[in-house]
Amino acid sequence: MNLSRRGFLTLSSVFCSTLLVGNYVDAAKGKYATLIDIDKCDGCKDQSIPLCVKACREYNKDRFPEPQKPILPYWPRKTYEDWSDKRDKIDTLTPYNWIFIQKVKIENEEIFIPRRCMHCDNPPCVRQCPFGALNKYPEGNSVINDKLCFGGAKCRDVCPWHIPQRQAGVGIYLKILPKYAGGGVMYKCDLCKDRIKKGQEPACVVACKERLGDKAVYTFGIREHIYDLALKRAKNEGLYIYGDKQNGGTSTLYLSKMPFEKINNILKALKERFQMPVEVENKIESTFNPIGKVALLSGAISIVGAIVGAIKSKKNPQKEQNNEK
Ligand code: SF4
Ligand code: SF4
Ligand code: SF4
Repeated sequence: MNLSRRGFLTLSSVFCSTLLVGNYVDAAKGKYATLIDIDKCDGCKDQSIPLCVKACREYNKDRFPEPQKPILPYWPRKTYEDWSDKRDKIDTLTPYNWIFIQKVKIENEEIFIPRRCMHCDNPPCVRQCPFGALNKYPEGNSVINDKLCFGGAKCRDVCPWHIPQRQAGVGIYLKILPKYAGGGVMYKCDLCKDRIKKGQEPACVVACKERLGDKAVYTFGIREHIYDLALKRAKNEGLYIYGDKQNGGTSTLYLSKMPFEKINNILKALKERFQMPVEVENKIESTFNPIGKVALLSGAISIVGAIVGAIKSKKNPQKEQNNEK
């Protein structure tokens, strides 16, 4: 194992900035929110690919990972996550597909649910990343910094919907400790961070509007207006609402004539990878919670362990060579 001086310095600076600054930010509701009206989505049945999914893939294609191959597993794992040969897959979340349309058959009806990051108000992914690679932006979106992410997948573990997806063979771990730390980079929807910063709507929202006009599935706008609209429609039209309370509140609200409990019972029975549990408690109550500290500490311990491992291997190159066989 060869830990270069540059690699060590980079690692140290990441480690120190994590310790000093941390990934703690004030719980923020954010400027914008999205309303997703499930009853209006037909899954773009007349298209070869749902237009919102297509728009997301086109808009973000330059940010998709290009892994260095061959990809090697990192200690102690024997496997790695590689979606690069399945980048055309559109029926689930992957590092190359940040939104998908989930089809659910309920009784005799088929419903279509656009699924992407919920952009939680108090996101556990942001709070518990040991490397401080995620941030919550003032616009309300949670964003992964692909330059800082080691791909340890803590964000996916703590996300109630398991949204972020990992691609191995890319990212900072390759430059620092390719055999001992992380395992790639995590990818997910960032609510089109550069577009919304400029006051534009997300690409998926625009694509649906272009197809359906006033009947578009998505309504994007100022959070208070979106919440007011969703609550009013839920009350007046007898609709169910999802995302306002789950995980302590989010920037993504779903409306449906079907109870979400019923929808999720089916997703559960089908053992779907992405479910919609109604009871989602946010376990992070304060900005300096013990869970976050443990996560931070475990990240620190892993790094220290990795450095010790690297130094030991450097002292005993023969042993390292044997391990590679
Ligand atoms: S573009 Fe609109 S109608 Fe088509 S799949 Fe996406 S949300 Fe549904
Ligand atoms: S849905 Fe998951 S990935 Fe998205 S902000 Fe919430 S916790 Fe983070
Ligand atoms: S908001 Fe942007 S990044 Fe997120 S799913 Fe829509 S198009 Fe993709």
